[in-house]
Amino acid sequence: MVCYKVDQLPPNNAAIYERARESMTCIDEVVVPPRDGRCFEARAGQFFRITSVDGPQVGDLNLWNAEDLGERFFSGKTRQLHASHVSTGDRLWSSLPGLRPLATITHDTLDWYGWDRDGGGVHDVIGTRCDPYTNHLLSGVDYEHCCHSNLTRALVAHTGLPAHEAERHIHDVLNVFMCTGFTHDTHQYFMKASPVRPGDFIEFFAEIDLLGALSACPGGDCGSSHSDDSTPCYPLQVEIFEPAEGTLDGWHTASASGYRGNHGL
Ligand SMILES: [Zn+2]
Repeated sequence: MVCYKVDQLPPNNAAIYERARESMTCIDEVVVPPRDGRCFEARAGQFFRITSVDGPQVGDLNLWNAEDLGERFFSGKTRQLHASHVSTGDRLWSSLPGLRPLATITHDTLDWYGWDRDGGGVHDVIGTRCDPYTNHLLSGVDYEHCCHSNLTRALVAHTGLPAHEAERHIHDVLNVFMCTGFTHDTHQYFMKASPVRPGDFIEFFAEIDLLGALSACPGGDCGSSHSDDSTPCYPLQVEIFEPAEGTLDGWHTASASGYRGNHGL
């Protein structure tokens, strides 16, 4: 049986998002350079869109409650509530004790991909992010532009936090545009070249005030290698959209879990 009764999840306001999307206008833009990271902000009720530009490129996304970095994207619970890969209508849930939708996916131009013969799909919440520690463990090389480091530098630049504090806020990502799965025989995490092409995008609705960070992975399309400078890499674009006034009537910002937090104590 499926572990969670996901048909009991609160409804995702699809009709409201569709109405609001028709009127929305772009109010801000951030370009993430290749092998680097940038932060962006989206207020509750705004949309943000991540677009491939110039060439096929995978992105690693972190999200936080803009008022409290302690509440952040919970990839493991998102995987349990939705699936190993996410698309339109799925939500990105926050860490405990918040456990609320941070964002809802409102459009995905790669939804046609589905599942391939190897069991691969796009936009996974099963991988973590490439990081210099694992790279050092496996290769003995210090590489400074892994997604973990790119996200750390982005958060330092945006918040002014010291690097060692900012690093603690970096968490398991949504692997935007990445094509991954588990091998049939050994159940190991695999990646293959992403089908993303310039113009493809994934779009989200911000359910609370959000701080985001996006890394343009040094793996590029993740078809060959990562954690090095050998793969062609391209920028990613993040756009923030504001819907017209009145189009969100009936929508309310997400509230934190109603659990009292006693833990039997
Ligand atoms: Zn990466």
